[in-house]
Amino acid sequence: MIVLKFGGTSVTDARAIRRVAGIVASRRDRAPVVVVSALGGATNLLLEIAEQSARGQLIIALRTVEALRQRHLDEAEALLGAGREAADVTSEMGAMFDELASLAGALSVLGDLTPRSQDAIAAIGEQLSSILVAAAFRQAGLPAVHVDARQVMITDANFAKAEPQPDAIAEAAQRLIAPVVRNGEIPVLGGFIGSCGATGVTTTLGRGGSDYSAALFGAALQSDAIEIWTDVDGMLTADPRVVQGAQLIDRIGFDEASELASFGAKVLHPSTIAPAVRLGIPVYVLNSANPESAGTMITFNAPRRPVTAIAGKSGVSLVKVRSPRMLLTEGFLRALFEVFERHKTSVDVVATSEVSVSLTVDDPTHLDALIVDLRALGDVAIERNRGIVAIVGSGLSDGGVSMSRALQALGDVRVYMLSLSATGINLTIVVDDEQVRPAMQRLHAEFFGGSARA
Ligand code: ASP
Ligand code: MG
Repeated sequence: MIVLKFGGTSVTDARAIRRVAGIVASRRDRAPVVVVSALGGATNLLLEIAEQSARGQLIIALRTVEALRQRHLDEAEALLGAGREAADVTSEMGAMFDELASLAGALSVLGDLTPRSQDAIAAIGEQLSSILVAAAFRQAGLPAVHVDARQVMITDANFAKAEPQPDAIAEAAQRLIAPVVRNGEIPVLGGFIGSCGATGVTTTLGRGGSDYSAALFGAALQSDAIEIWTDVDGMLTADPRVVQGAQLIDRIGFDEASELASFGAKVLHPSTIAPAVRLGIPVYVLNSANPESAGTMITFNAPRRPVTAIAGKSGVSLVKVRSPRMLLTEGFLRALFEVFERHKTSVDVVATSEVSVSLTVDDPTHLDALIVDLRALGDVAIERNRGIVAIVGSGLSDGGVSMSRALQALGDVRVYMLSLSATGINLTIVVDDEQVRPAMQRLHAEFFGGSARA
């Protein structure tokens, strides 16, 4: 059994959905279970509807409801024509849009948007798409069965970021999904949505939650693989907008992918697939617009390369605290990090010496207030306009050669801070903002060949 997850761009319209049916058909013999996102952009519009309604802008909100209704009906017609299936799906979707309109009306009266009502509205996107995709599959000759994901994805009551309950999900998946597969049929479920185990009220897993759904269903069903179908070929050795000749990574370690997650490689967030990877289930990232491409496999047993990928980001602030008090006292770092916690600022990279600490911060919103508190601990210096380059590879610290090659390749790029992850697989280097691109290019050329200039 395999779980195939298709993101919003992969199911955005009739043409894309037909392509998805073809991909699923090509995997019939592997007993596919299909998880879909809402049509591309639908979740954003639904959240807008919720906010506009609560703000009292009901007319605008209802206009958006009708536009979204029309879009779904148009795609349904393009996919299903005018037969019996089309009539059933159209009336089911129509009822959901009527419900959406009345939810919008209720919110405009209440003038208050709770996470619970926000979830009730956001969840409609995946309810619609899963019904539509299941019908489109049947139209294409696939024996698809719609399964309401909310009855399987059992969560707590933490609306808008509900915590899945793996045992309850495993039980429900064995009861509601597995028999469909055994019957030779293809279950189709919405990602992202769930329901509270105690009350049955609709919840969501948080934005982008469909990957998480796919991983949880895959884990619950002990599937052989999970395929995350998106609109890029997979993960690359570097951002192709920065580095010419960036290459597709065929296999990447889960730890490596996790180190790269904060660099805006918005393919998928590794933590969302952890439930599957932990069980040894391989996860593939594939391109639904280019199904022939081999994609990237994320696994615990990827080849051990010195460098798997190079990433970078700019707009980082470097905070330096120097304090003679730090020497031979305990509790200094605790006091330091408490300041960051108090100001809700997350720290990214850290390096410490006997009497000083350097750390980087991505989000400078609270920096000014933070500095005032930090001054109580020592001399503080802030350097804005810094950037980070990360060299990630599971074999980076095997021997000394790769690391010295990396530092040598940087040439005259000035380094402000260096930090090697505890696992030894991520060497993070803080440089000037405008040196991020050349540093990435030089490093990529060193380890993957090609020219250092892009
Ligand atoms: N449709 C949801 C979102 O846009 C979930 C997902 O696509 O993963 O956040
Ligand atoms: Mg998505």
